[in-house]
Amino acid sequence: WKNAPPTLRETLLMGRSHGDKIFLVHEDERVNFEAFYRAVTHMAAELESFGVQKGDRVAIVMRNLPEWPVAFYGALSLGAIVTPLNAWWTGPELEYGLVDSGAKVAIVDVERYERMGEHLHNCPDLKRVYVSRAKEEITHPYVIPLESKIGGANDWAKLDEKPLPTVAITADDDATIFYTSGTTGKPKGAIATHRNINSNIFAAAAAGARAFLRRGEAPPQPDPSAPQKGALLSVPFFHATGCFAVLNPSLFAGAKLAMMRKWDPERAMQVIQDEKLTQMGGVPTIAWQIIEHPNRANYDLSSIEAVAYGGAPSAPELVRKIKEIWPKSSPGNGWGMTETSATATSNSAEDYENRPDSCGPAVPVTDLKIMTVEAPYRELPIGEVGELWCKGPQVVRGYWNKPEATAQTFVDGWVRTGDLARLDAEGFCFIIDRAKDMLIRGGENIYCIEVENCLYDHPAVMDAALVGVPHKTLGEEPAAVVTLKPGAEATEAELRAFVADRLAAFKVPVKVVFWPETLPRNANGKIMKNELKKVFVEG
Ligand code: ATP
Ligand code: MG
Repeated sequence: WKNAPPTLRETLLMGRSHGDKIFLVHEDERVNFEAFYRAVTHMAAELESFGVQKGDRVAIVMRNLPEWPVAFYGALSLGAIVTPLNAWWTGPELEYGLVDSGAKVAIVDVERYERMGEHLHNCPDLKRVYVSRAKEEITHPYVIPLESKIGGANDWAKLDEKPLPTVAITADDDATIFYTSGTTGKPKGAIATHRNINSNIFAAAAAGARAFLRRGEAPPQPDPSAPQKGALLSVPFFHATGCFAVLNPSLFAGAKLAMMRKWDPERAMQVIQDEKLTQMGGVPTIAWQIIEHPNRANYDLSSIEAVAYGGAPSAPELVRKIKEIWPKSSPGNGWGMTETSATATSNSAEDYENRPDSCGPAVPVTDLKIMTVEAPYRELPIGEVGELWCKGPQVVRGYWNKPEATAQTFVDGWVRTGDLARLDAEGFCFIIDRAKDMLIRGGENIYCIEVENCLYDHPAVMDAALVGVPHKTLGEEPAAVVTLKPGAEATEAELRAFVADRLAAFKVPVKVVFWPETLPRNANGKIMKNELKKVFVEG
């Protein structure tokens, strides 16, 4: 922790030291580190002159665009609390986020601005809206085109430098409110401090060093003459992973970030080739979509050095595939949640190849324990399955405006994760399922992930989800929704027989439905099982 940048303002200053190296790439826009820094100082000065003060909430309501991080670091360097909202949300959902966070200022892109319409005027605390990329003139008195204050991305290099605001900010000040994905209920705003967020930088460095240290070797020092690292940004900035585990460490380390207007695997391969990107991943589906793409051989993807993902379960087969395609690469899998400011465990390189079904041990200065799911809570011995609890520098202090949920979820610095897991003797963590993502068939527990992993082992299966379907006497029965790989074939009977050969009879899906495209996922890559259940319940 000695060299930890205490706040994201220091991370920003570190970022500036990378000078004229390219930082952000978006279609024909290219922004170097110095230009980025200058745009941030203009954003901060604008917010300061409008009257934003330490602790005020500033919302960002945009898809991945170069102005997203400018708004983020601009507001943070004033001590404001940044509240990014999910760009996939509808007008009423965005209104919920703005009202719940009490945002004084919102920085929005033109699509979200149009989508919000009148909802923008139902937010009593909102005093100013900056809209980026508006084509038409804006007539509302408190809505201002962002470009009139900071210019467009390709102009940032020409900006003069403004002094950063001098307000005192400490590592334990609140920095952000990120909303959880809403997989199990209404999204909750998790309040992260500067320390919580910056802990990802050191978690990543320590994970990279671990395999070397275990072999008794010194981890390699960064080679200044090596080509610049670069990542394909396939996850949104408005979720903790994209912002804390990708954006902030990339700024710190001087890595390039290539963003896409819309996720498309073929376009992604083109960008990897053109920009010679060294990293890809985000969520496991992203990696699969590239690996299984029929046109993959048409692209030069040899620059890839690491394929790292997290946020959702991944099939053990993925590691083998990655090593097959990029034999020298380092695959990585991590576990985390919005409440742990992204990274809390990490598995990489040969550790991951040896334990492809584990999300790894806890990152430094972090503790994991397995507790009984029901009260009275007690710690379970190694190897037993229970609820995962986590404590460390990344665990947030609570939920915004939700004292009850905060008291239930955060206990003496530990976060109760709601995930079922077990630990092995060396501290490797194995996520079994969400405590809520299991079903009980006539008294027998079925962990969805176990059946899904079995289906993934079938050569024709690309995507699979198990859901519980109500049953009169058994309570629930397992049913599967499956997408096949392009050109592959399999019948319902064949898939059921495949599972029956490998798992106990009560776990075999009573029905398998084929889905024509990849399964519906939310912005964070998580399968929306509630949508899929309707297939069985509503026919
Ligand atoms: P909500 O809490 O609003 O219902 P959510 O839990 O999906 O939504 P996030 O904070 O984005 O919101 O996701 C965290 C969850 O993602 C974890 O609790 C866990 O269930 C899942 N997850 C994260 N990483 C992994 C992983 N490597 N393997 C399996 N599951 C993972
Ligand atoms: Mg959750």
